[in-house]
Amino acid sequence: MKTIDLRSDTVTQPTAAMREAMLAAPLGDDVFGDDPTVNALQDKIAATLGFEAALFVPTGTQSNLCAILSHCQRGDEYIVGQMAHAYRWEGGGGAVFGSVQPQPLNHQPDGTLALDDIEAAIKPDDAHFARTRLLALENTLGGKLLPFEYVKAATDLAKAKGLSRHLDGARLFNAAVAQAAQNGRFTKNGASNVPEVPANIDKLAINLEARRIAQCFDSVSVCFSKGLGAPVGSTLCGSREFIARAHRIRKMAGGGMRQAGVLAAAALYALENNVARLAQDHALALQLANGLTGIEGLQVEPPHTNIVFVDLVGEARARSAELIPFLKTRGVLATGLYRLRFVTHLDVDAAGVGVTVHAIQEFFKH
Ligand SMILES: *Cc1c(COP(=O)(O)O)cnc(C)c1O
Repeated sequence: MKTIDLRSDTVTQPTAAMREAMLAAPLGDDVFGDDPTVNALQDKIAATLGFEAALFVPTGTQSNLCAILSHCQRGDEYIVGQMAHAYRWEGGGGAVFGSVQPQPLNHQPDGTLALDDIEAAIKPDDAHFARTRLLALENTLGGKLLPFEYVKAATDLAKAKGLSRHLDGARLFNAAVAQAAQNGRFTKNGASNVPEVPANIDKLAINLEARRIAQCFDSVSVCFSKGLGAPVGSTLCGSREFIARAHRIRKMAGGGMRQAGVLAAAALYALENNVARLAQDHALALQLANGLTGIEGLQVEPPHTNIVFVDLVGEARARSAELIPFLKTRGVLATGLYRLRFVTHLDVDAAGVGVTVHAIQEFFKH
């Protein structure tokens, strides 16, 4: 039985072509700045997103940490969402390693932070307060695309108030695909249950949207180990001066890697080959959501990208603890209890989504 692993888009295995690219990569010692593959990746992502420079780091967590500590000093604070990875899921690194205080704000239902809340959270210059220095947004957040007009308005507000702006764009290219689709830069392939990459998908249009989002910020972090399918690696982009600061912090955090090109090659391969195919993951997520809609006891949130959230409501909640173990007996892995999360990716296909839908139908039939 083939396992259908919908726990996360981090579970993907590097493809044969990606492994070949890793094998073939020219290498050097990146602590000396000598690794041509790391340098090529940094140059490419910086150019794609419109920044002067970029830094290859092992994880998205280290990337966000380098960003927070490069923007902020001890005694500064950053404004961030309650559910943002850079606040909630990174062990409080900014506070632990940098004495930088987070100022978390509640999200609106669409994932945004209300502009009024941001403005109210910016402290006056007064000895009582931490110095508000940075606004950190995340896009996509829980698979939701933040409306571009909102991103523009929030980052303009932050700039007008003298704050730096950081984007946790772990899934920036998923956001870009959704935004390109929204703008009609390519048309969805008719019925939502056709998991093909649209024939007229335009990688340049996607990169353009990624850049449009990224250019609202002073720094952007992108993960290659999520939907892009690389085993390891993130990059942080910003000005040359900002990246020089981040480089020092990466060293302090133990992130100075040697022949790291063997990993950067996978990220470079992903950037060149796996961006446009994210549309396929989005189509599969939609197929899954459509398949689950109408099952008694389930409330399905229509997905913007590759993450489907499903709430158990009414009597279904009484059986919630049995569902994930049941799915496991059918070869389907997912997470959650009252709120299930399914993530589509490179190693899931339409047949796997079909199996998942059937298994859940079967569970609720009894
Ligand atoms: C996964 C993720 C990260 C952190 O990435 P790691 O490589 O697991 O440290 C940061 N932000 C977001 C939004 C993520 O999804």
